[in-house]
Amino acid sequence: MATSLVLERKGQLALRDIALDQDLSPTDVRIAVHTVGICGSDVHYYTHGKIGPFVVEQPMVLGHEASGTVVEVGAQVTHLKPGDRVCMEPGIPDAASRAAKLGIYNVDPAVRFWATPPVHGCLTPQVVHPAAYTYRLPDQVSFAQGAMVEPFAIGMQAALRARIQPGDIGLVTGAGPIGMMTALAALAGGCAKVLVADLAQPKLDIIGAYPGIETVNIRTTPAAQAIAEATDGWGADVVFECSGAAPAILGLPALARPGGTVVLVGMPVDPVPVDIVGLQAKELRIETVFRYANVYDRAISLIAAGKVDLSPLISATIPFADSIAAFDRAVEARDTDVKIQIRMPD
Ligand SMILES: [Zn+2]
Repeated sequence: MATSLVLERKGQLALRDIALDQDLSPTDVRIAVHTVGICGSDVHYYTHGKIGPFVVEQPMVLGHEASGTVVEVGAQVTHLKPGDRVCMEPGIPDAASRAAKLGIYNVDPAVRFWATPPVHGCLTPQVVHPAAYTYRLPDQVSFAQGAMVEPFAIGMQAALRARIQPGDIGLVTGAGPIGMMTALAALAGGCAKVLVADLAQPKLDIIGAYPGIETVNIRTTPAAQAIAEATDGWGADVVFECSGAAPAILGLPALARPGGTVVLVGMPVDPVPVDIVGLQAKELRIETVFRYANVYDRAISLIAAGKVDLSPLISATIPFADSIAAFDRAVEARDTDVKIQIRMPD
């Protein structure tokens, strides 16, 4: 038994002991959790008790964005040893599934993902995890940065899906955490510059501080006007839709250049209208993103090389003992907060 952050039911969190299955198989590692980021999905389970078909029906430990230190390895594990600093990929597919064999294990229907009901998450002192989904952090990558790899991986997946070419002009609609991660991944992936559009100026100020990012406040300037001005009326090579907002999705055809690409990253809560003919008239290529597959190594390499610095996006680090307060702050969704992290006790 270990004190964990438990979502008892919608709207009720507790720091309490809970029995977890932590048997170590020969291919697993045991990890002392160091830092866990709070994700929008954790917050949504707290406030709404469900996301789509996933409903919290029994107490569940929250958290899926984690780094830590290996404390024990299974008999068949060769690439990790006790003392290694690591981060963990929270979705574990069935390795024998068709999706996993195709390399698209993120869309394996059998995937077990931390803090997605009924699977417990990692806001607990120790976790047991498959070594194959546990990644060693280079010395220059901190635990805090290691816990940012998970949200950054979604931006990486978006950048890979876009098939960016060097010198592309990117446009990101929506400056939430995932929009910011996507903008940075797009720059790292070869975009000459990336415009980020949102209506919350404090968010734009945070992401606009990065070289290569230009911001558009859509309260004063429509995104279509901004991208037209930036590209002599041609449009963005790649549009990353990260807001999930219906008007942004309806307006996508006006943002991309003829023959350009639209990557759908944001998730609308309900079905939304799409301008099919608008997309057809420019022969836009549409890509979708669901989590990520095979991107952790690349993400860690970019961070270790200093090409992507996620530290400015860590807005607060809160001790585990105060993690319920940390979640209540995340529920407030302050414009000045990007990522709130929880630090586990030593
Ligand atoms: Zn997340």
